[in-house]
Amino acid sequence: MTTASNLGFPRIGANRELKKALESYWAGTIDRAELESAAAALRKTSWRRQQQAGLEHIPSNDFSYYDQVLDTCAMVGAVPPRYGDLKDYLELDTYFAMARGAQNPATGRDVVAMDMTKWFDTNYHYIVPEFARDQKFTLASTKPLDEFTEAQRLGVRTRPVLLGPVSFLLLGKSKDQGVEPLDLLDDLLPVYEEVLQRLGEAGAEWVQVDEPCLVLDLDDQARAAYERAYRQLSEARASNGGKIKILLTTYFGDITPNLPTVLSLPIDGLHLDLVRAPHQLDKVLEGLPEGMILSAGVVDGRNIWLTDLEATLDRLEGIRDRVGPQRLLVAPSCSMLHVPIDLELETGLDAEIRNWLSFAVEKLDEIAVLARGLREGRQAIADALQDNRRRLESRRASGRVHRPAVKERAAAVGPDDLTRQSPFAERRILQQQNLGLPAFATTTIGSFPQTSEVRAKRAAFRAGKITREEYERFLESEIERNVRFQEEIGIDVLVHGEPERNDMVQYFGEQLTGFIFTEKAWVQSYGSRYVRPPIIYGDVSRPGPMTVRWTSYAASLTDKPVKGMLTGPITMLQWSFVRDDQPRSETARQIALAMRDEVCDLEAANIRVIQIDEPAIREGLPLRRGEWSAYLKWAVECFRLAGCGVRNETQIHTHMCYSEFNDIIEAIGELDADVISIESSRSQMELLEAFASYRYPNEIGPGVYDIHSPRIPSAQEMQDLIAKATQQLAPEQVWVNPDCGLKTRHWEEVRPALENMVTAAKAMRSELAGVGGLAAGRRPASAIERHG
Ligand code: GLN
Ligand code: ZN
Repeated sequence: MTTASNLGFPRIGANRELKKALESYWAGTIDRAELESAAAALRKTSWRRQQQAGLEHIPSNDFSYYDQVLDTCAMVGAVPPRYGDLKDYLELDTYFAMARGAQNPATGRDVVAMDMTKWFDTNYHYIVPEFARDQKFTLASTKPLDEFTEAQRLGVRTRPVLLGPVSFLLLGKSKDQGVEPLDLLDDLLPVYEEVLQRLGEAGAEWVQVDEPCLVLDLDDQARAAYERAYRQLSEARASNGGKIKILLTTYFGDITPNLPTVLSLPIDGLHLDLVRAPHQLDKVLEGLPEGMILSAGVVDGRNIWLTDLEATLDRLEGIRDRVGPQRLLVAPSCSMLHVPIDLELETGLDAEIRNWLSFAVEKLDEIAVLARGLREGRQAIADALQDNRRRLESRRASGRVHRPAVKERAAAVGPDDLTRQSPFAERRILQQQNLGLPAFATTTIGSFPQTSEVRAKRAAFRAGKITREEYERFLESEIERNVRFQEEIGIDVLVHGEPERNDMVQYFGEQLTGFIFTEKAWVQSYGSRYVRPPIIYGDVSRPGPMTVRWTSYAASLTDKPVKGMLTGPITMLQWSFVRDDQPRSETARQIALAMRDEVCDLEAANIRVIQIDEPAIREGLPLRRGEWSAYLKWAVECFRLAGCGVRNETQIHTHMCYSEFNDIIEAIGELDADVISIESSRSQMELLEAFASYRYPNEIGPGVYDIHSPRIPSAQEMQDLIAKATQQLAPEQVWVNPDCGLKTRHWEEVRPALENMVTAAKAMRSELAGVGGLAAGRRPASAIERHG
């Protein structure tokens, strides 16, 4: 019979219980037993919820104190030596040291955390496994078994989830030259064999083995690794009775480019993401071996929209008719880790929009009702279907979703809207006249420390405890302080400091139509850090200026240029739940138009420098290279649409806080921002190679102050970095700025660090004056040759 199944439930707790427990444990206010009992309570609640919803394949080992990839490192004993000996593997504190680093002055222990990076194209971050040449693997943590038996004792039979061996290796990196993670497969497999055997003995019927790397571009070596791994696991299973069945799960994309490999694997079931990649179904069904179970991921595990039950039933019936009811599982597209838990808790949400949404708990019901519809016929679920139809219709027809004027304007965008008046070489001269900046001009990325006072005032204002007037006076005083400070230390292009902003996306989203914000809809970003992404439900437009008041206020206090500060369309898109009833590119274009209006309003208010932050452009890259250029095309267009409405004299900056540009350097060039600031202090300017070999023509501010660390860099250190940058770039291209915004830092660090930064820039100016005979006070106006 068709079975209702889940791939993973959010582990943070509907009221962020896991965060509270973890942070108390780290602070030493609860002990390990209390932390463990909080975690057990969360697992129990999730299992019960899924059981009550009528799910039959309920995951276990989807819980994690921090991250499921780190759990896998612990399971196989892949603990880098700096964290301790094998005997420490089972110690929770070793685990947390790997996740977060550890500093203990009493014992002298001082270890940095393992690297963290984004989980495929989600906003979840995993801990990157670290391998060495003499890497040994051993079953070091029995968490999958423990959680399976824990559920069993509660009367819940679960399907344990493991990150598969090949994806585990592919997601990791080797510390030693010449050692490829996949070389370690043979050593790793025995640990997986042992886990499968012990799970089988404990009574598990199925195990879910996640192999999301199967949706990536794989080379022959990786494909061969898949074949070897699953053959070996299957043989090992056969030799011990062959009890446990393997469901191989793929998600976030299409497996058809690797289909021959997948279909040759000796597995019992295969999960497909039919939300992200619906078209793969037919090809997979054509080749699906006799007897293999198909898990159809039809309920979106990445987004918060109600599922169209009737349309989904149509598809599921089609699958059932081909494979038979015994071979079909109804499932979410991927683990529900990426969606908030419970819509019921959103009591403050607009009632109309709330009707269109579905969080994890609601998705469980959707899965159960779909499976029931398949088993018992549509009549049995007629009420649910009717309710669903009514809600979908309300969304489709709502005047709050569709604003004809916005659609018309977006449709009318033409090439002229995407181009500045003149090429950079000409703009540069006019901007130089307009701004009169010195060589190695200094600036910051926008935010200044968000002190507890700033946060307290915002909270008081939001809670109605202080008046708007009081709050705004407070913001003005903060801005004034920021301006005076920057003038005092001699920064060239000032910022107002962003004290009015809670978050760089939320601040804008709250002032645009088409966005809505939740109160409790938290999603794990990494470890105990959760985010509440806005929901973009409708056409986006800008009822009025969003930042002009604050930027103008700052500008009124000084003669120096003040830089206006905006969040770009791709970042707004990337960090939100995006509507699924139109292409992402269309939503991005609407946001870009709203931002364009803001840019033009800033210019009209005499703001001569405007920065459009796009830290998320790179993370929006599709998983497969073949899809990159289409994405980059519209992403670049949206940025240009936002920034190209201004005169030549107005200088457009952008900012991206990462350092890998090799893959996208051409697109970065096509943004045609007059100035780009990037992260680079930690990589010691290595990333500039990409800019240099591309012969990036515009100006660049490679960050010289690592704002992720409390360390205060010396002037000499920063001067050395700038000098290093001039080996790759023309001196007249180089700006001097920190790596990113300063909002998470303290004034005690920021003050001396920025003073040192200005000292470093000045030293470079005198050197340049000495070498090139340029007047130290003038920025050289020699136009740089444009690439190509
Ligand atoms: N302007 C933002 C700030 O300074 C940029 C933040 C970011 O790039 N993440 O905080
Ligand atoms: Zn940044």
